[in-house]
Amino acid sequence: ESDPTLRPQPMPDDRDRALRPQMLADFVGQAEARANLRVFIDSARQRAEAMDHTLFFGPPGLGKTTLAQIMARELGVGFRMTSGPVLAKAGDLAAILTNLERNDVLFIDEIHRLNAVVEEVLYPAMEDFELDLVIGEGPAARTVRIELQPFTLVGATTRLGLLTTPLRDRFGIPTRLNFYTVPELETIVVTNAGKLGVPVEGDGAHEIAKRSRGTPRIAGRLLRRVVDFALVEGNGVVTQALADNALTRLGVDHLGLDGADRRYLRLIAENYAGGPVGIETLSAALSESRDALEEVVEPFLLQQGLISRTPRGRMLAAKAWAHLGLAAPRPPGQ
Ligand code: ADP
Repeated sequence: ESDPTLRPQPMPDDRDRALRPQMLADFVGQAEARANLRVFIDSARQRAEAMDHTLFFGPPGLGKTTLAQIMARELGVGFRMTSGPVLAKAGDLAAILTNLERNDVLFIDEIHRLNAVVEEVLYPAMEDFELDLVIGEGPAARTVRIELQPFTLVGATTRLGLLTTPLRDRFGIPTRLNFYTVPELETIVVTNAGKLGVPVEGDGAHEIAKRSRGTPRIAGRLLRRVVDFALVEGNGVVTQALADNALTRLGVDHLGLDGADRRYLRLIAENYAGGPVGIETLSAALSESRDALEEVVEPFLLQQGLISRTPRGRMLAAKAWAHLGLAAPRPPGQ
């Protein structure tokens, strides 16, 4: 019983916890996803059945885990959480599945990182709520079929493209999460400040929202840091001037870009004349994993129109040259 995967956490234990919205009505933004989930949750409740398997995909910090927890709470069922890399053996997953209660939500984070053997176990479990377990080894090995309680699998991934087709096809409710708008993030900052008991002025909340990279997790983190500055160097109130000063000192610029973002842009500008540059080249030059660039850095730069992806590699857009304060080179022949 020392294997941690045998005792999945009932709730994730992190610093975000206190700030997480509890019900769908408290969840700001993602209007389309929210409206659809409302229908599917209410329908499952009326039928007293497990809700269909749901896949959340999109950049980190946009609310995938939060929505999975909200689903369980709204459905009135238990919540179990694990992640792709933690499930090393088929038996790890089997232990979790056989311990689920009727209609529970099982959340698997980073589901694109499940290994193939574990994934095979998941297929009949998702489809028929059945588990085929191999008992024993060699000639004495035999397969036993175990019936599972019906359950809802909620998968989360930052990389939809890395999911195998058979796995992706088994999710009845695929849901994309998008970057948040500034007004949505402003609402989240004001709500979070309320929960933390911190006075925040409208302009102060706006400043933090504008510089949060479209991401609630970052908005929460920046708010905490600005509050530190407000307490120590101000009178405890989050004003626009205080937020601006604090965020600049933290290396977060007016577009919300941080040091890693600017290093990425500057590399393409200064070493590759604006591109195109291949992702492997960027990864080597920045000493950052390709995954981190593709999952964390690039989505926001693309969404902001600072870079574009071409078949020959990444290219800086005019907006990025302007943001870096550099003159874009003239295309050849002009
Ligand atoms: P993900 O699983 O996509 O990485 P999380 O669900 O862990 O993201 O969310 C990260 C943080 O952002 C949490 O503190 C959560 O409370 C907050 N958060 C995410 N979405 C929202 C939202 N729509 N409204 C308010 N807070 C949110």
